[in-house]
Amino acid sequence: MSRPYVIDQMISAKSIAARIEALARDIHDAFDGTDKLVVVGLLRGSFVFIADLVRELDLPVEVDFIEASSYGDGMESSREVRILKDLRGTIEGRDVLIVEDIVDTGHTLSHVTDYLRSRHPARLKTIALLDKPARREVDFRADWTGFEIPDAFVVGYGIDFAQRNRNLPYIGQVRFTDDA
Ligand code: 5GP
Repeated sequence: MSRPYVIDQMISAKSIAARIEALARDIHDAFDGTDKLVVVGLLRGSFVFIADLVRELDLPVEVDFIEASSYGDGMESSREVRILKDLRGTIEGRDVLIVEDIVDTGHTLSHVTDYLRSRHPARLKTIALLDKPARREVDFRADWTGFEIPDAFVVGYGIDFAQRNRNLPYIGQVRFTDDA
């Protein structure tokens, strides 16, 4: 049975856009001069973020996607990470930027990073729009983070709750209205 909830805005669309501009400048500086950058989005939660990020990146980029198992339709992280859909292209000798929506326990991004590193990219960096450091279970930090947020369940800007709310232009926090 689904519980009733409302969504309280946590990060506005305007703040996200401003932060992405700054992140894109940092990424540009880190990969300056590259002509072999592959930006890898982790499906599905990163699809809005990666779309906005690559349009701010003044570098020649290729875009690829990988999908790992995550929350399923619930609100609990699965600690065992499986690759559900692999990259289409090869990354050996290429520069790679992995784009994730949220680093929570850290299992997903740390697993995907190890998985792709084993293919011998030239350089491999990670970026996450959101980071919940209080929830970390493995020692992992993305190279770039958009916003650190508290331990809350968030939706919007590509991020879902049971496949809904991905189309919200902002990041919002789910609040159940049947709570005492
Ligand atoms: P981790 O492996 O770091 O625990 O989890 C990463 C994945 O869990 C994220 O890619 C995201 O799919 C999911 N996740 C973590 N926190 C949230 C959240 O607040 N809301 C939603 N919808 N998914 C989350």
